Amino acid sequence: MFHAKNGGKNRAEIFNSEIGTQSSAEMRRDILEAIETGGLFLEYQPKVCSRRQKATGVEALVRWNHPEYGRYMPDRWMPAISNSPIIVALGEWVIEQAMLDQKKLVDLGHGIFTSVNIGSRHFVAPEFVESVDRIRDKLGFAAERLEIEVTEDALFTSEDRASSTFKALHERGYRLSIDDFGKGYSNIARLARLPVDFIKIDRSIIVGAYEDERICAILKSIITMAKSLGAKTVAEGVETIEQVEFASKMGADCLQGYYYAKAMPVEALAEWLDTEANASVPPRLQSL
Ligand code: C2E
Ligand code: MG
Ligand code: MG
Ligand code: MG
Repeated sequence: MFHAKNGGKNRAEIFNSEIGTQSSAEMRRDILEAIETGGLFLEYQPKVCSRRQKATGVEALVRWNHPEYGRYMPDRWMPAISNSPIIVALGEWVIEQAMLDQKKLVDLGHGIFTSVNIGSRHFVAPEFVESVDRIRDKLGFAAERLEIEVTEDALFTSEDRASSTFKALHERGYRLSIDDFGKGYSNIARLARLPVDFIKIDRSIIVGAYEDERICAILKSIITMAKSLGAKTVAEGVETIEQVEFASKMGADCLQGYYYAKAMPVEALAEWLDTEANASVPPRLQSL
């Protein structure tokens, strides 16, 4: 079975034994090839402002267009590369592709912000900030348009490196998010020293809080803490109107989840945003 406590390498091997005979090394080679030959693509999931019920941003989520498995989801193969240098190649590809897609959206009249997920190992690499700047200069987008999501383990892997990276990105104007907050061993003291724009509260807390008073108390304290740090909160994985109303009532600034939309290719996203822009209520709410 798959335990979060296992290291990346171990995890990848266990995972591979579940899906077939392919070794982690073979899988890494295939992923690298996919990155280099256009075998990956991005889908985008909207984030909605809870007060205005309008999309404020989108999150880029990678998919592998796999010759055998079709639309192959990242949870199935990310463990094989999260501890290898390929995570760097992936992250750079994702940033570039996401910013190219954002240009398309801006041309279509949607000035939306885009977030990308960056693996912890990539985030703490010494050349990370420079490589983001290089892509920005090459494509000519404003730093403010790119939001970078990292999970809390980036803060643990290499504390000094992580905090200097946070500060350097913040100074340049990139937005920063802590992803899956509350899922791991949330280190609040460490978080307090970093310039974080968004705290994305893990779906397990959002769903749990709705049903359990004790988890609800934790959710309230996360939102209070975020506010006092000057960070906005995003409730991840809202699926029902009850969860939407509950998370909004608790004070979450933004909402993201299947209730509004699943991740979709950029063309479908443009249509979704068009419909949303012309509606007095969001498309998903209309159809209820
Ligand atoms: P994440 O960044 O926390 O992304 C949220 C995941 O939850 C996405 O799964 C999304 O499709 C899913 N989700 C969104 N709303 C709901 C909902 O209402 N209910 C449920 N049950 N799930 C919901 P996905 O796309 O399979 O991605 C899984 C994880 O893979 C991501 O978690 C992220 O950690 C990682 N990932 C995805 N794209 C990238 C990438 O480009 N680079 C890196 N390094 N990691 C990525
Ligand atoms: Mg994310
Ligand atoms: Mg998350
Ligand atoms: Mg996640």
